Amino acid sequence: MTTAPQLSFDVQQSESARTPAERERVLADPGFGTHFTDHMISIDFTEGRGWHDARLTPYGPLTLDPATSVFHYAQELFEGLKAYRQAGGSIVTFRPYSNAARFNQSAARMAMPELPEDVFVESLELLVQKDREWVPTTEGHSLYLRPFMIATQPALGVNYPSRTYRFMVIASPAGAYFTGGVKPVSVWLSRDYTRAAPGGTGFAKCGGNYAAAFVAQRQAVENGCDQVVWLDAFEHRYVEEMGGMNLFFVYGDRLLTPALTGTLLPGITRDSVLTLAADLGLKAEEGKLSIEEWRAGCESGELTEVFACGTAAVITPVGSVKGTDGGWTVGDGTPGPLTMRLRESLMAVQYGTAPDPHDWVHKI
Ligand code: PMP
Repeated sequence: MTTAPQLSFDVQQSESARTPAERERVLADPGFGTHFTDHMISIDFTEGRGWHDARLTPYGPLTLDPATSVFHYAQELFEGLKAYRQAGGSIVTFRPYSNAARFNQSAARMAMPELPEDVFVESLELLVQKDREWVPTTEGHSLYLRPFMIATQPALGVNYPSRTYRFMVIASPAGAYFTGGVKPVSVWLSRDYTRAAPGGTGFAKCGGNYAAAFVAQRQAVENGCDQVVWLDAFEHRYVEEMGGMNLFFVYGDRLLTPALTGTLLPGITRDSVLTLAADLGLKAEEGKLSIEEWRAGCESGELTEVFACGTAAVITPVGSVKGTDGGWTVGDGTPGPLTMRLRESLMAVQYGTAPDPHDWVHKI
């Protein structure tokens, strides 16, 4: 953990621009990522000076020079986590120090400054405290928190990183990912495009990874699938991850997930599932799985369930697979029992209806 500098937040709290009735209307059907709370966090960084000018201000647009380097060279990164309103009314976030650590791993890869983990978490706490009325009370809803950092130097020189940066946090109420029951997704095996290669930025949560993924996701939809599955960059054979989620393969009481080789995002939900699986007496392994093994396992019945996991949708069953040379069904195409058990166990910790033996929940 990096130590916190002497940073204190200037709190410029404002009256909400929206009436309580308008807020309640948004919270009744928040969708995802289109409505934002009343405030935001900003902290600036200048080479030689470090982090400074930490502030909470009313939510609003930024004014940036058109030459600002983030617009040209995409020196940017972000995180995503949620604040949950628990059964007793308290508000918590889930493993925020893990997001802080991943943020700094991404920063190191993008030649950007690291932010002390305590400052990262304090930023989340301050924003959620000020905008606590935006944390939904409806079961399955949450407040999505989006910390991010951009390169702010107005300079087109491509040979050196920016000397100034801004860290920000914004928040957006999020509805339940599944309404009317958990529905398995269909996936498209991408062979025309790859997401990441060794030595690249696959493990970092940088915007460029997502910009490059849209075309493959569009191809998945054009082929009648919900999500794209990324394969390794060399043989287009080994499974890496699915869209914005990590994948797990269930062989009876054994779980297998692609190992963190540097080309996939180290998901915090993935890590939590590995721990939960062990708690439930399941064997959980990190390894390698080819699409031929995926298909053969489903055909023989040995591979009983496949699911994806991530902050947005928690755990999502994968029901069917399609590629350029045909497709197959996973199990009978409906959510498997182990998938649902792990999903419920994880959500119970997040929403405070089960004990939290690993201290994952962080009270605001
Ligand atoms: N893979 C990718 C590419 C992602 O964007 C995400 C979402 N952050 C995940 C996996 C899942 O990560 P987490 O469980 O931390 O949300």
